[in-house]
Amino acid sequence: MSIAENLTDIRAQIAQLEHANQRPSGAVRLLAVSKTKPVADLEAAYEAGQRCFGENYVQEAVEKHAALAHLTDIEWHFIGPLQSNKAKAVAQTMDWIHSVDREKIALRLSENRPQDMAPLNVLIQVNLSGEASKSGVSLDEIASMAELVNSLPSLTLRGLMAIPAPQVDEASQREVYRPLTQAFLELSQRYDHIDTLSIGMSDDLSAAIASGSTMVRVGTAIFGARNYG
Ligand SMILES: *Cc1c(COP(=O)(O)O)cnc(C)c1O
Repeated sequence: MSIAENLTDIRAQIAQLEHANQRPSGAVRLLAVSKTKPVADLEAAYEAGQRCFGENYVQEAVEKHAALAHLTDIEWHFIGPLQSNKAKAVAQTMDWIHSVDREKIALRLSENRPQDMAPLNVLIQVNLSGEASKSGVSLDEIASMAELVNSLPSLTLRGLMAIPAPQVDEASQREVYRPLTQAFLELSQRYDHIDTLSIGMSDDLSAAIASGSTMVRVGTAIFGARNYG
């Protein structure tokens, strides 16, 4: 199957899940996760109407951003773990970051955001599984991280992101998401501009969309298997 055909399939799957969960049509955006894939694959997806791309590695993200600078309506999302010494490169190139989980990173991103760019859209990454991933704040820490991000002039807090540990079935996947859905609701009551819950990958789209996802991050099902990453 081609990238265009894969995109058609995923879009249909998302539309069907929106409908099944009484979500409005278009409530869930599709982020194409293009890490490790060549620029030609991003161009193919772009040709097929895809505009939001997610990258995990800073160097690779910066190179692809430069290679595709002529496609000015691409929305670039950085979704990988970020070291503070690379925050500047992200601040200078990306439109969104999904993986803010430390004060130092938030400060560096804001300090290094060029004045002539719109504020960087920020999602706070939440660790739902405790041990499975070292990235992300705990549920208890969301409030203080949100307050910090919200106070920084060159960042706009848009919501939350999570990568839960794999579960055995959809019921368990939904169970893991439940406190995150609640935390997202609370955040949206407290701050303006909160509209993005980034959950759902190739393996748990159904549970994520049932749990209120507004952005699913799909790589393999669009671009095929990766050799690394
Ligand atoms: C790689 C990655 C994805 C996409 O995973 P697939 O299994 O290829 O769909 C989504 N989110 C994050 C944070 C990733 O690193």
